Amino acid sequence: MKRENGKPQLRIMIYTRQMHHIIKYSSIVLCCVAITIGAAAVPDVTRMWFTPPVIPLDFTGSISFEATVTESPTSVMFEYNGVDRVMYDDGTHGDLVPADGTWTTIFQANEILTKLTPSRVYRPFIGYCKPGGGSRYSIFAEIWTPDIGIVDVRPLSTNAQETDYLVNFKATKSQLMSFSASYWANQFYSVCEDSFDFIQFVHIAGKRGNRYHSIVKNSVQGIGLNIYDNSATFGSSGRLKGYTVYPLSNLFDCGVRNFNHEIGHQWINFLSGTPFSSGISHWPKGDVAINIMGFSLQGGAGGRYYYTFTPDGQGGFHVGTGNGTNSHSFNNMELYLMGLVPAAEVGTFFVLKNQNLNLTVGQTLQFSDITLVTVDDVISAKGVRTPASANAQSTFRCATVVLSEQLLDVHAVSFYDWFARRAEAKQQLSYASGFATGTSNPFYVATGARAVMFSKIANETPTLNISWLANDQFSLSFLGKLGIQYQPQVSSNLVTWVNMGPPVLAPLIQPSGDNPVSVTVTTSPGMSTGFWRVECAY
Ligand SMILES: [Zn+2]
Repeated sequence: MKRENGKPQLRIMIYTRQMHHIIKYSSIVLCCVAITIGAAAVPDVTRMWFTPPVIPLDFTGSISFEATVTESPTSVMFEYNGVDRVMYDDGTHGDLVPADGTWTTIFQANEILTKLTPSRVYRPFIGYCKPGGGSRYSIFAEIWTPDIGIVDVRPLSTNAQETDYLVNFKATKSQLMSFSASYWANQFYSVCEDSFDFIQFVHIAGKRGNRYHSIVKNSVQGIGLNIYDNSATFGSSGRLKGYTVYPLSNLFDCGVRNFNHEIGHQWINFLSGTPFSSGISHWPKGDVAINIMGFSLQGGAGGRYYYTFTPDGQGGFHVGTGNGTNSHSFNNMELYLMGLVPAAEVGTFFVLKNQNLNLTVGQTLQFSDITLVTVDDVISAKGVRTPASANAQSTFRCATVVLSEQLLDVHAVSFYDWFARRAEAKQQLSYASGFATGTSNPFYVATGARAVMFSKIANETPTLNISWLANDQFSLSFLGKLGIQYQPQVSSNLVTWVNMGPPVLAPLIQPSGDNPVSVTVTTSPGMSTGFWRVECAY
C-alpha cells in the first residue's frame, strides 16, 4: 500500500462521484489501491510518460520523461539518485512545446537501463517527479529485454493492431484523459469475438489514477448484488461480466494479486446487512481481510491487512505479522462468493468490533473485541449463492486492450503481451508492483487450483493426431488445456460440421495443471471421406 501523495479528502470526492455513477447507470465501480489525486491548488501530475514508452535493453539513444503538471509551478524537478534535475517547460532541453504544462527531462539510455535488476521484473524505480509546492511522485520505467521475446504483431487497421494476447488501439489524448469503457469495448468487439468474461483496459500515458473494476453484468444470486445486464451497451450479448481499468501501465500485470483483487470485485463485497457491511467494497478489519480482497481504507480504496491471527485458546487471537501466502490467496469466504467452494467449506471469520482500532504485532485480541461471522450470516442476509460451486463457472476468459496515442512498437507490444499472458500461469511468479517485489500467485494458484483464467484472445487451435484403430474407429489425440471444453466434430466437405459425441474436458493429470494434457476421443464416422476437428469452448 503506497499512499505517497495522500490527500484522502479528495479521494472521497472521487468515490462519491462513482457512487453517483452507481445510481445513474446501475453499474458498480470499485476502486483500488492508492495512487491518490492531489488536492486542487497544489501542483499535481495528471499524466506522465517515457519516450519510448517501453525501452529495449539495447536502446542507445536519449530517453525523454514528460509529466503534465497542474497549477503552473515555478519549477519541476526530477530526483535521480538523490539529486534534483531541472525539468523544462520552455521549449528547450528536449521540451517539445513551451509553457504547455508538460515538463520534460532527458535521460541517457544507460541511466534508465542500469536501474533494472531481476527483482524489479522489467519495471525499475527511476526516481521522483517533484512539482514545486506539490508532492513527489515515484516513477517506474518499463524495459523490454530478450527474455520477454518478440511476439507476432498483426495490423488490423491504421488505428489498431493485435497479438495473440492483446489488441492495441490508437487513442487521442482526450480519449485517454476522459476514458469511455463502453466506447472502447465496442471497438474491441468490432475486431474480436464476444467470448470474454472480462476486459482490461491499459492506458499508456493515461490520466494518473487508481485502477478499478466495474461490473457490467451480474447473474449471481446470494452475493448481495442485484441481477442486471448492461453488456449490450458494451457490445457484448451477455458474456461480458466486467472490466478493469489500469490508468498506469506499469501496474498492469495479470499474474499478480492486484489482477486477482480486481477480478474478485466482480463478486466481493456487497454484503450489506451482515457484519461485513462496514468494509464494503472490501472487508472490514478482521481476519477475513488478510487475503486478496484486503480491507477498505478511509475513502474506500483497498488496503492490505498484513497480519496473522493465532487463537489464544480463550476465544481471542494473538496478532502476528502478515505473510505473502495469505495476502496472495483468496480465503474461503471469498471463494464461496466467487462460486468456487461450497458453503460447507467456509469456516468462521471475525471482524473487529472497533473498526478504528489499529493493531500492533504482539498484542492479543480478546473475544470481547471481535464479532464472529459465518457463511450462515451471509446466507440469512442475502440467500444462498446461486449458482452454487458445483454448477458455477470456473473457467474464465479475459481480454487485454491497450490504448496509446501512437500504435506501440513491437517491443512495447511484446512487453504488455508478456504481462497479459501471465494470467494463465499455473505456478508462482516473481513480480514487482510499485515498490513491492516478491512472489505472486497467478489466478489459478490464488484460487487453490479451483479456477482457470485464459487471457489469450486468439482461440486455441489444437493440432490433431488422427489414427485409425479398427471398425471405423479413429483416435483423435491433441493437447488439451485444463478448463477448455473440446467438442470433436466431423465433416465430409469442410463446410458443414457435425458434433461427434459429447464435449471433452481435458483431464487434470498434472497436479499443477501447468502442462497441457493429452486427450483421446474415438469416432465412428461411417463415411468414406471424413475431416475432423475439435471446437474449443471456454
Ligand atoms: Zn479493491
